[in-house]
Amino acid sequence: MSKENTSIHDFDLNIICDYYATLERQGPGSPEITVKALSFIDNLNKDSNIADIGCGTGGQTMTLAQHTEGHIRGIDLFPRFIDLFNSNASKLNLQDRVKGVVESMDSLSFQDEELDLIWSEGAIYNIGFERGLKEWRRFLKTGGYIAVSEATWFTEERPKEIEEFWMDAYPGIDTIPNKVAQMQSAGYMPVATFIVPDSCWTEDFYKPQVAAHKAFLKENAGNKSAEDFIANQRHEIQLYHKYKAYYGYAFFIGKKI
Ligand code: SAH
Repeated sequence: MSKENTSIHDFDLNIICDYYATLERQGPGSPEITVKALSFIDNLNKDSNIADIGCGTGGQTMTLAQHTEGHIRGIDLFPRFIDLFNSNASKLNLQDRVKGVVESMDSLSFQDEELDLIWSEGAIYNIGFERGLKEWRRFLKTGGYIAVSEATWFTEERPKEIEEFWMDAYPGIDTIPNKVAQMQSAGYMPVATFIVPDSCWTEDFYKPQVAAHKAFLKENAGNKSAEDFIANQRHEIQLYHKYKAYYGYAFFIGKKI
């Protein structure tokens, strides 16, 4: 197997974390899309409690904070990301109501019915869409919302190469109607679904990575694992350009009933 085809699961988490800490965002998205998803949510005020699960360094969290008044807790597994998150919050003078905490999304410490909104962009795949929706539901008040972006198939059938890539990377990828049905059976009323535009991948996520790849290779010159990781990332970007008619991210917004 060529190195660029090595599975993402084979890489050292420290390398992945070191690389992604250099980027402003760790997944496809944009401030406009965060605001659009937020436009479907109508129960928020200054006393609201919001969680951003798998927040990374907080790109989308800061947008969320600038468009809501409540308190936001960002949750991520990696202390490096949370340190950057908290310093980003301070730079924007949001530290009084935006706090990052190191925790795993499969053992969250929220109280039952504590939250008005659960946010998660490009991160629920770490425990799986269905499992995340089911397990996090108890933390929401009745009438509270969940908004997550998630990898989805756009067509019923796909070319073998991209099907195989995703079956390895995230077998939970599914079509939008199937994801909406999963949301409904997890106990939420599906409120809105929309496709995250192509530009959130190409402009907002992949474009800054051209320079980031070069800088990372320079900094890790001679480190074979780092070189293999960047080759893998470049391969993933090529696959996106080749097969973007078949998959992408969609936002799913649901209300706890
Ligand atoms: N929401 C951010 C980051 C998405 S990348 C953005 O859109 O830019 C996925 C994030 O999930 C990473 O920051 C990663 O560290 C985090 N993550 C992975 N496993 C996790 C876990 N078990 N618990 C909490 N966060 C996790």
